[in-house]
Amino acid sequence: MSETSPKLRTELEGIPTYKPGRPAAAGGPVAYKLSSNENPYPPLPGVMESVTAAASSFNRYPDMACTGLMNELSDRFAVPVTHLATGTGSVGVAQQLIQSTAGPGDEVIYAWRSFEAYPIITQISGATSVQVPLTPGDVHDLDAMADAITDRTRLVFVCNPNNPTGTVVRRAGLERFLERVPSDVLVVLDEAYREFIRSAEGEGGAVPDGVELYRDRPNVCVLRTFSKAYGLAGLRVGFAIAHEPVAAALRKTAVPFGVSQLAQDAAIASLRAEDELLGRVGSLVCERTRVADGLRAQGWTVPETQANFVWLRLGERTVAFAAACERAGVVVRPFPGEGVRVTVGETEGNDIFLKVAEGFRKEL
Ligand SMILES: *Cc1c(COP(=O)(O)O)cnc(C)c1O
Repeated sequence: MSETSPKLRTELEGIPTYKPGRPAAAGGPVAYKLSSNENPYPPLPGVMESVTAAASSFNRYPDMACTGLMNELSDRFAVPVTHLATGTGSVGVAQQLIQSTAGPGDEVIYAWRSFEAYPIITQISGATSVQVPLTPGDVHDLDAMADAITDRTRLVFVCNPNNPTGTVVRRAGLERFLERVPSDVLVVLDEAYREFIRSAEGEGGAVPDGVELYRDRPNVCVLRTFSKAYGLAGLRVGFAIAHEPVAAALRKTAVPFGVSQLAQDAAIASLRAEDELLGRVGSLVCERTRVADGLRAQGWTVPETQANFVWLRLGERTVAFAAACERAGVVVRPFPGEGVRVTVGETEGNDIFLKVAEGFRKEL
């Protein structure tokens, strides 16, 4: 009897599997994981308490509507509850956005290189990715992205700051871009690193807050997450702010009960402890400056980063550099042939990374 395997959708063929940042190997020489842009601080005691309390009832399903969290977010951002949708991390929400807008024959535009998840979630939907190269300065080329829009375009991602380069687009450029996008194409402003932005007014203005841009633009959706600045990566909770038809579509495409009660309660506790958490973000930003300045003093060209990581364009030496880091005790995120993304983590880990970078520089 000949055996055939179950028929799988042909769209899944060739999907690049998501490569999570390698964990720091237990017992090995690797002590610091600087590969996933996580927050190095342990959970705040108050947040920990809310999670422990929620754990006593995990025999129950969570509140499917995330009522408490939605109310908290509504107050915090001054947006109606009907303009909010939560999901299993903002990657989960991004996937729902694609499911809500695009299928076979449709196009999803994003910069490249940008966030690893975009090509994967686009391909799963059956839609076609249109990747628009970053400028030579590693910044979104918004004019080229607007030029790439066709009548098949359904969604455009703008990752600001961009993962993995850390670069930002500014008000003038982003507003000009939004003017050019047809009103029936959804623009998703992925602001996973929003809290790390410290850029003053530069040429083109400040880095705009997506929440302000969305208010009078029905085709703009803002993605935020609790995974980075708020330190809840392992609990999987993110959210979108968008006008009603889009937010409603997100509620339709959500995995039922996807956001656990632990995650909901931790997110609420984190919003209430925002001062303390943003204080930690401030320390990480100082550390970011130290790392980026240190690299530049060694002679590296580092794009101005507004996120919790730095980008080193190493080209063919990328893999060797990542291996050298690992031997020294830090895991970084290599993009072979392009560069490495290194999260700003614990001071000791950052120091090891700087030391490896210095040694590498001398060999050039
Ligand atoms: C980390 C990250 C996210 C958020 O991921 P979660 O699913 O919320 O953990 C979203 N977008 C970008 C660009 C990221 O780097």
